[in-house]
Amino acid sequence: MAILHDVIPPFQLFQPSSLDEAAELLEAYGDDAWIIAGGMDSFDWLKDRTKRTEVVVELGQVPELQGIREVDGGLEIGAMTTLTDIAESAIINERFSVLAKAAGLVASPQIRHQGTIGGNVSQDTRCTYYRSGWTCYRAGGNTCYADTPTAVNREHAILNASRCVAVSPSDTAPALVALDAQMVIRRGSRERVVDAVDYFVGPDLDITRMTVLEHGDLLTSIRMPATWSGARFYFEKVRDREVWDFPLVNIASAVRESGGRIEEARVVVGAVAARPLRLRAVENALAGQLVNTQTIARAGELAIEGARPLRFNGYKVPLMRNLVQRAVRGGPVTGTA
Ligand SMILES: Cc1cc2nc3c(=O)[nH]c(=O)nc-3n(C[C@H](O)[C@H](O)[C@H](O)COP(=O)(O)OP(=O)(O)OC[C@H]3O[C@@H](n4cnc5c(N)ncnc54)[C@H](O)[C@@H]3O)c2cc1C
Repeated sequence: MAILHDVIPPFQLFQPSSLDEAAELLEAYGDDAWIIAGGMDSFDWLKDRTKRTEVVVELGQVPELQGIREVDGGLEIGAMTTLTDIAESAIINERFSVLAKAAGLVASPQIRHQGTIGGNVSQDTRCTYYRSGWTCYRAGGNTCYADTPTAVNREHAILNASRCVAVSPSDTAPALVALDAQMVIRRGSRERVVDAVDYFVGPDLDITRMTVLEHGDLLTSIRMPATWSGARFYFEKVRDREVWDFPLVNIASAVRESGGRIEEARVVVGAVAARPLRLRAVENALAGQLVNTQTIARAGELAIEGARPLRFNGYKVPLMRNLVQRAVRGGPVTGTA
């Protein structure tokens, strides 16, 4: 399908100056409204004209959505905080360095200056077929064009696919899941809090969305409880180009150790499924173990159980296994891994 990359069709623009005003607008315009934060994902959709909107609610003037605050020993990050501010924040680097590292590896410096954490965790998938306007399952059709014998599917899912094989491209999402973060969502005058692990949804739950957000919902902030503050963290992203690129696979982990043994761990991989995947079998196997060759090898094998690669993304299976092993070890694996 040909894409018409052109000026954005006209829309009505609202720039609310308070959270209440933003929430009211989103409630009033419902399906017709499109939230714009930094616009780094949104502008592509609108310029390509594969998606259109009547109304844009631009959040740049809402002070309540900005900044990083200490709350109950943990941190709360406003949804409009830029990825650069997160990557460079002294307190995030000190307590939750896994998130700072993930944010610092998103795209390019320009995109990190403009892109926000709220937009990064709410962005759409990058499946070429879907983004090009093909009427796939995710777009309301009845085919997954990325899962046909001749499809180009190097970047697609190896786990948890259900008709659609698109993946979550977010670098910060696995880090937030590993930190047991909570997403604060406003709808009208009501607020609800959703665990990060449940914020992201797969096609088995809803094939048309990447997150629990529905029209009218506004992500206002992300809370990180003190629980994992100062743990042993690991983040790594493998991409085609080191300059800037979406992840082929990324991994975030948090490990708490005592006397050389792992007490508790979070191991989360991204870009292998439509949502960041918490590897609970790996986490359970790590609890109580010494970090030795056997533990590392077992974690890697458990990680890839059930993986079902497509024609061109078989490389993601050993890649994911090796990243999990590196995360457990805390660095590159030498020897056979
Ligand atoms: C060339 C390029 C390379 C990229 N590389 C990477 C990469 O390597 N890793 C990576 O993770 N990302 C990458 N991205 C994606 C980009 O970094 C993210 O899309 C960006 O962080 C999104 O933030 P934004 O504020 O610009 O979002 P926007 O485009 O403004 O919003 C994205 C989506 O989230 C919704 N949204 C935004 N804020 C809220 C909110 N508060 N509440 C509810 N919904 C909201 C919007 O409606 C929209 O649907 C890349 C993008 C480009 C263009």
